[in-house]
Amino acid sequence: MMDLKEAICELIRLTSTDLPAGVEKRLREAANREEPGSAARLAMDTILANVDMARKNSTPICQDTGTPIFFVHYPSGMDTGALTAQIRSAVELATQRSTLRPNAVHSLTGKNSGNNLGNDTFPTIHYTAIKEDTLTIDLMLKGGGCENVGAQYSLPDTSLDAARDLDGVRKAVLDAVHRAQGDGCAPGFLGVAIGGDRDTAYAASKEVLLRDLDGRNPDETLNQLESRLTQDANEMGIGPMGFGGKTTVLGTRITCLYRLPASYFVTISYMCWAYRRRKMTLTAGQVTYE
Ligand code: SF4
Repeated sequence: MMDLKEAICELIRLTSTDLPAGVEKRLREAANREEPGSAARLAMDTILANVDMARKNSTPICQDTGTPIFFVHYPSGMDTGALTAQIRSAVELATQRSTLRPNAVHSLTGKNSGNNLGNDTFPTIHYTAIKEDTLTIDLMLKGGGCENVGAQYSLPDTSLDAARDLDGVRKAVLDAVHRAQGDGCAPGFLGVAIGGDRDTAYAASKEVLLRDLDGRNPDETLNQLESRLTQDANEMGIGPMGFGGKTTVLGTRITCLYRLPASYFVTISYMCWAYRRRKMTLTAGQVTYE
């Protein structure tokens, strides 16, 4: 198979240093909504200056370069063992080049591996086989602070008066936003999975964050719930970094999974303002990025 190490290393560099235009646009709109001179406006202006500087200097947008999470869609029959080895080599190379901070720490000893590799579990790689001949690799760099405020609810939840319906989902998501109080570096984005088991739901709540920010949810009911959740979260007034203000959440994406009759999970992954995600596509030997 073709050697993709340098191409994947470039995907990592782009993701770590160059925030997607759609994310930056939402950050600018949010900054303009805040009162000039307020703590919220100052926080947003600082964030935007940082985004600009990182792009110009090709340096990480945030000092925490996060957990690298790869979502790979590969042509059926491709050697995923070889691809995994290339992804891991690219992560190691990106760490040597300081595009990634060494972030893989042994949970018992606290020792940092120094190269962002840990067992077979760091970085995270999800594989899906497809019929087409195109390889796509989506990369998300998920910051620790925002990962810490992710949450999973099992409905019904009597403490929230949340039943097994969409209003119950809404109450669970808003409870997670309220509990975070701006921790995890607000304003950010909500990825929500309804249903599944505990394991699949967390992965799905992250993968849904890869959807086009301006696109509509194909399910109209979920589309309306996404808008309502963003609006309701912003009415809480938590604001950028929890300083108070008009924008706590910049967007919401929801996916729906099948579930057991006995279970009804609502799983929330929160993505901070440093919403670092990029896609690499390999078609007929040509690599492109978006
Ligand atoms: S949560 Fe995001 S913005 Fe905050 S420190 Fe972590 S990576 Fe950086």
